[in-house]
Amino acid sequence: MSFTLAIVGRPNVGKSTLFNRLVGKKIALVDDQPGVTRDLREGQGRIGDISFTVIDTAGLEDATDESLQGRMRKLTERAVEMADVCLFMIDARVGVTPTDEVLAEILRKKSARVLVAANKSEGRAADAGVIEAWNLGLGEPLRLSAEHGEGMSELYSMLMPISDEFENRGNDVQEFAPTTDVSVSDEDDTVDLEAEERAWRPTVQRPLQVAVVGRPNAGKSTLINKILGEERLLTGPEAGITRDSISLQIDWDGVPMRVFDTAGMRKKAKVQDKLESMSVSDGLRALKFAEVVVVLLDAAIPFETQDLRIADLAEREGRAVVIAVNKWDIEDEKQDKLKALKEDFERFLPQLRGAPLVTVSARTGRGLDRLQQAIVKAHETWNRRVSTGQLNRWLTGMLEQHPPPAPAGRRIKLRYMTQAKTRPPGFVVMCSHPDKMPESYSRYLVNGLRESFDMHGTPIRLYMRGQG
Ligand code: GDP
Ligand code: GDP
Repeated sequence: MSFTLAIVGRPNVGKSTLFNRLVGKKIALVDDQPGVTRDLREGQGRIGDISFTVIDTAGLEDATDESLQGRMRKLTERAVEMADVCLFMIDARVGVTPTDEVLAEILRKKSARVLVAANKSEGRAADAGVIEAWNLGLGEPLRLSAEHGEGMSELYSMLMPISDEFENRGNDVQEFAPTTDVSVSDEDDTVDLEAEERAWRPTVQRPLQVAVVGRPNAGKSTLINKILGEERLLTGPEAGITRDSISLQIDWDGVPMRVFDTAGMRKKAKVQDKLESMSVSDGLRALKFAEVVVVLLDAAIPFETQDLRIADLAEREGRAVVIAVNKWDIEDEKQDKLKALKEDFERFLPQLRGAPLVTVSARTGRGLDRLQQAIVKAHETWNRRVSTGQLNRWLTGMLEQHPPPAPAGRRIKLRYMTQAKTRPPGFVVMCSHPDKMPESYSRYLVNGLRESFDMHGTPIRLYMRGQG
């Protein structure tokens, strides 16, 4: 089974140029056919040995009126629905525009997987734009020149794990077969989205996607080898010269997992002088395809800048996070050390509050069982759905305990709450004056959700919406 890639972005960033490059033949441009507006083009794309369907959101070039934004929004949403992965393109020479921000927001909310490409990146003129693209909060931008064919091997590396995953899915014949009837919930009179989603959940267990990230020498290779040594290797290692991360499918204590080994490739690459930056960017790539990210720290030097950065990125990417502190075998004052670690964790990574912290020794194998359990639990929480009835009863209690603020004498009313998404859990609160809601109140609610519903180890998103 192959996957579908949608190229999205505002007009003129270079989508068609990339589309043509991927599809490999010049398809007539929209403006070559007056009167024909085809909003979405589809073709069979290929890079190296990966093939996939490409969708290009062309056809907007002629829309210069104010409806452009609306159309672009709709088109992007449609493309997202059709695609397994979206490649969001900006023009690095122009930088991030307000329209880019609008589209990025849609992608952040609606697409499970987004790659950001900063196009027209040939030459120095694009440097500032590439850096700006980081701020979209969609992960590390891919430096691309669609016209000159630069960045294609990086794009290949980004698509490779997806391709692998979909090929494996193809073997799971029964996947996505409905298992239960879609029913109407008795808790409220709307259609029960949960039942609907449950009905389409895979019946064959997909491997849980795990990335082990961390600084060089944290012990990533040792950890993965230890796990491999003790568990059944299902497939792999699939080493490929152009691949930045190698993935292995294993059965870890009865749970199928696909583990991205970000260290293996680096060792192959032999760019010793670039060790640091290489391993970070490998890690970033692996983050994108992981469901659970294990941030591996060295007990002797935990919470270094690089560790913090990668943990923060994992949170921003919306991944479940488990912190593993390695080389615990050589720690003497274990009790004191653990206490200090937990304090540092709270101080340096408040955004990951409550995420599990597990001490391990990759060398001896101690603690690996707890690490496995933490991964499975974090993944479960990441997928958790809380019913609307439960949420609103909870919200009532929270409001009573600590009423929302009343800026300029008018109390913000929180009317209703529902879970809009999972992976990670995202909640929508309908309220009056969503723009006036202070950050501190949102935080109160998020922390409350975490405690009340035991949602540790996953980011939680909260969206305030006015009732239109
Ligand atoms: P679309 O509207 O997003 O599909 O953009 P197009 O693919 O039609 O490209 C818009 C313009 O940008 C064209 O003039 C392309 O030749 C140019 N372009 C596309 N990719 C690149 C690139 O990598 N570098 C430069 N300098 N120009 C590019
Ligand atoms: P990577 O760069 O993150 O893949 O790290 P490696 O797996 O190559 O490990 C770096 C060094 O740390 C090696 O010398 C390992 O033997 C050592 N190491 C890894 N895990 C442990 C551990 O649990 N305890 C001890 N004492 N040393 C470890």
